[in-house]
Amino acid sequence: MTDAFIPPAKPIIGDDEREAVDRVLRSGMVAQGPEVAAFEQEFADVLVQGRASVAVNSGTSGLHLGLLAAGIGPGDEVIVPSFTFAATANSVALTGATPVFADIEPEQFSLDPAAVEAAITERTAAIMPVHLYGHPARMTELGELAERRGLALFEDAAQAHGASLHGRNVGTFGRFAMFSLYPTKNMTSGEGGMVSCDSAELVRAVKLLRNQGMEAQYQNEVVGFNARMTDIHAAIGRVQLTKVGAWTAARRANAATLDRELRGVTVPPVADGAVHVYHQYTIRVPEDRDGFVAALKQQYGVGSGVYYPVPNHRLASLEHFAPGLHLEQTERAAAEVVSLPVHPSLSRRDLERIVEGVNALAGAGA
Ligand SMILES: *Cc1c(COP(=O)(O)O)cnc(C)c1O
Repeated sequence: MTDAFIPPAKPIIGDDEREAVDRVLRSGMVAQGPEVAAFEQEFADVLVQGRASVAVNSGTSGLHLGLLAAGIGPGDEVIVPSFTFAATANSVALTGATPVFADIEPEQFSLDPAAVEAAITERTAAIMPVHLYGHPARMTELGELAERRGLALFEDAAQAHGASLHGRNVGTFGRFAMFSLYPTKNMTSGEGGMVSCDSAELVRAVKLLRNQGMEAQYQNEVVGFNARMTDIHAAIGRVQLTKVGAWTAARRANAATLDRELRGVTVPPVADGAVHVYHQYTIRVPEDRDGFVAALKQQYGVGSGVYYPVPNHRLASLEHFAPGLHLEQTERAAAEVVSLPVHPSLSRRDLERIVEGVNALAGAGA
C-alpha cells in the first residue's frame, strides 16, 4: 500500500484564517470585542436564519449557559439521548438538574419521540435532542410533543451547521440551540461555541452568564462565568463562515458518491424534507465492527471513527443517573456504527479507496 492514510476528519485552516488572526494580533485588542460581535451577527445571518446568536468559548459552555439561562436547575429533569457525546448530559448535570436518557430511533440515531414521551415525569422541564452526525433530529414530532406537554425544547446542534428540515434550519426550533466550533466540527474557531436564542431575554441571560454576570462594567447582576470567546478565535470563525457552505456542498457530494457506490451496507437514510450536512457518514457493521475498523485501516489505509462506542448511561461519570437502564436501539447502535471519511478534503481517488475497502470487507459477508 503506497497511498497515504486517509484520516477520518481533517480541519481545513488556510492563509485567510492566518491573516485574520494576524490582523487581530496586530491590533493589540485580542479579548472579546468587535470581531466577536461581527461573528455573532454573521453566524446568525448565514446559519440560523437571523436568529440572535451569542459566542462562547466552547460548545459545552454554550449548552451549560443556555440551560442556565432558560432556568434549568436542581429538581428539573431534561430528557436527552444517551447515544451522543458526553457533553450533552454533562451540561445538564452541571446545572444541578438530572439528565434522563431516552432511546433513539434506528434510522438517524436521534431521540425517538415515543421513547421521549414515555420518559416524561412531573419533574420533566425540557427535551434536548441532538442532531447527530449532521442530520436533523425529529423536530416536528418533538416540537409537537413539547408543546402538548408544556415542556421547553432545546437543541444540541454541535454537529449540524446548516442542516435543515422542511426549509427550516436546525438552531431555529428550540428556545436555544448550541453549535460547537471545535476543530473536527463542520467549521471551527479553534475552540468555541455559538448559542442561538429565540428571545431577547435569553440572549441577555446568556451574555450575562458569559461575562461574570455583568452588562455594565462592575455592575454584576448575577453569578456568572468567564466563558467569553476571544477576538482571535472569532476572526478564524468569521473566515470559516464564508467557506462552510462550500464545504457542506463537498460533504454532500462525497456522501452522494458513497451512497451510489457502496455495496452490501445500508447507506445513511435521509428523512423526508431533511438536509443532512454529513458531519459524519455513518453505516452499521453488525458483525465484528471493531475487526472491520482495524482491517479498513490496515489493508486500505482508510481511517474511520466510532461515535460513540459507550452510551452515556454506561459511562462511569453518568451511570448513576440511570442505574440498570437498558436502551435497546442505543446499545445496538453503539456496537454497530462506523463513520467513514466524508470531509471536504477527500479526492476522487480517496473516495475510490474507501469504496473499495468497504465493499470488500463489509460487502463480503452480505
Ligand atoms: C462536540 C460536541 C459537543 C461539545 O462541543 P465542544 O465545543 O467540544 O465543547 C456537544 N455535543 C455534541 C453532540 C458534540 O458533538
